[in-house]
Amino acid sequence: MPETSPPVSMDFIRTIIAEDLKNNKNEGRVVTRFPPEPNGYLHIGHAKSICLNFGIALEHEGGTCHLRFDDTNPTKEETEYVESIMSDVRWLGFDWGEHLYYASDYFDQLYEYSVQLIKKDKAYVCDLNADEIREYRGTLTTPGKESPFRTRSVAENLDLFQRMRAGEFENGSRVLRAKIDMASPNLNMRDPVLYRILHMPHHRTGNKWCIYPMYDFTHCLSDSIEGITHSLCTLEFEDHRPLYDWVLDELDVDCHPQQIEFARLNLSYTVMSKRKLLELVAGGYVTGWDDPRMPTLSGLRRRGYTTEAIRDFCDRIGIAKRDSTVDLALLEYCIREDLNKRAPRVMAVLRPLRVVIDNYPEDRSEELDAVNNPEDSSMGTRKIPFSRVLYIEQDDFMEDPPKKFYRLAPGREVRLRYAYFIKCMDVVKDKETGQVIELHCTYDPDTRGGDAPDGRKVKATLHWVSADHAVEAEVRLYDHLFKTPDPDAGKEGMDFKTHLNPKSLEIISSAKLEPGLQGATPGSRYQFERLGYFCVDLKDSTKNRLVFNRTATLRDTWVKIAKSQG
Ligand code: ATP
Ligand code: MG
Repeated sequence: MPETSPPVSMDFIRTIIAEDLKNNKNEGRVVTRFPPEPNGYLHIGHAKSICLNFGIALEHEGGTCHLRFDDTNPTKEETEYVESIMSDVRWLGFDWGEHLYYASDYFDQLYEYSVQLIKKDKAYVCDLNADEIREYRGTLTTPGKESPFRTRSVAENLDLFQRMRAGEFENGSRVLRAKIDMASPNLNMRDPVLYRILHMPHHRTGNKWCIYPMYDFTHCLSDSIEGITHSLCTLEFEDHRPLYDWVLDELDVDCHPQQIEFARLNLSYTVMSKRKLLELVAGGYVTGWDDPRMPTLSGLRRRGYTTEAIRDFCDRIGIAKRDSTVDLALLEYCIREDLNKRAPRVMAVLRPLRVVIDNYPEDRSEELDAVNNPEDSSMGTRKIPFSRVLYIEQDDFMEDPPKKFYRLAPGREVRLRYAYFIKCMDVVKDKETGQVIELHCTYDPDTRGGDAPDGRKVKATLHWVSADHAVEAEVRLYDHLFKTPDPDAGKEGMDFKTHLNPKSLEIISSAKLEPGLQGATPGSRYQFERLGYFCVDLKDSTKNRLVFNRTATLRDTWVKIAKSQG
């Protein structure tokens, strides 16, 4: 990583690292790592960890951040996940350079380390089965019981462990355990399992191994092998830190990284565990890991989120030591802030109502000037066609308007954005349903692109699209995937899926867009005036059939929430 960048803000982790550098700990090196298990797609919580680890490396000259796949569990891991993780980290704008590692590359070394522990009489082969191990472990209030196999001789342990590796025993028949303390108040220290037998091919090592190391044993040693200086992880690993340190101390390794825990990101209206996200994918509750309603990075990307918005979000939430839940509205605020600056404005009508301008000649049309982004004059202007038949939004008209409804109604005049004042003269209804199907209006030719010369005012400006020129598109409107702010908080045994929002997706099959959107490229983002931010779907949109996803509405709830929180 060539350049350094200033820190976002000094959180407690950055303060510790600054102090270490001052004391010349680790010879002034800063090496962090992001260690995903390739058993699912990355989500917005991972983005917090990625921004922290890669961010800290970038803030120090010579700092590096490793991408390490923590691939010790062959039952759940797949190459598809490895690839998606790499592309998501890159999309967030980070680069691991040469530092791409796999815990599975250390299987030989890890095996040697376990042999060392056995030789020191600090590990033993145990024949208790999983249930028995659990039973012997005791509870928070009762001490554990020592395994009858704990006193095996070093020679016997070496022999059995070697035969475990050779494939002589069945799954679950034996494990290698650390010999620590069955009375420890910390359950993780009650002779934790280091290796288990699993006759199953691994996505990278194939059939070479039938014993696989456990997370706690693998993680600290992988950190040490790679010369990590600060091993940053989420709070649930706080109770594992004594084991992290025990393994490295007993093996007397050269590099003993410091584990520091921080609070994981929780977001309202969202579940974040990969297990649960996989359940949604596998059960068909969403269309895939990249469904735009998913909190995955690929889902957010498809929804129209930008790298900048997600990094801004991660900066704003900061790093703390105590768990909390961040309001989803903050994430939406960040994407609005970014797209407000960069998204060109266009006009689109989602639920079209036909408007005929009776005094506009049938064979005429004209090009009107429209501003691409009032926030950024460098984005210029464009021409939009106007003609006798237009579409406006159905809910911009009310036949019998209540007070405070200032938009179109019989006898009322409004402005059409960038065009003319129009006045509603007549309403055509479907004979059977009574539904309004067409409005007849007149326009005032003297109001083109501006105000009325006689100074009369209108109270509303509507967006519209010329019917003959309109491009059709499918538009997908998204709402929260869950109905409740904390879908994880159900009573014991309650399924989080019962909180799914049945209205999280609404499909509008024939929206009318201004003609400039013909052929819009997948991934391009727009503000549909008065409606929200939309982007062309990365997967389903084609030249012949445009598909848009609503990224966010224009309504900002975050400012209100922030105010009420003081
Ligand atoms: P999950 O619980 O979603 O399955 P995990 O912790 O098992 O997540 P890993 O692939 O092991 O997922 O995580 C890789 C890194 O990302 C770890 O260092 C982990 O602490 C961090 N991480 C995972 N979820 C979050 C989160 N919600 N907030 C911050 N960091 C997270
Ligand atoms: Mg995990």
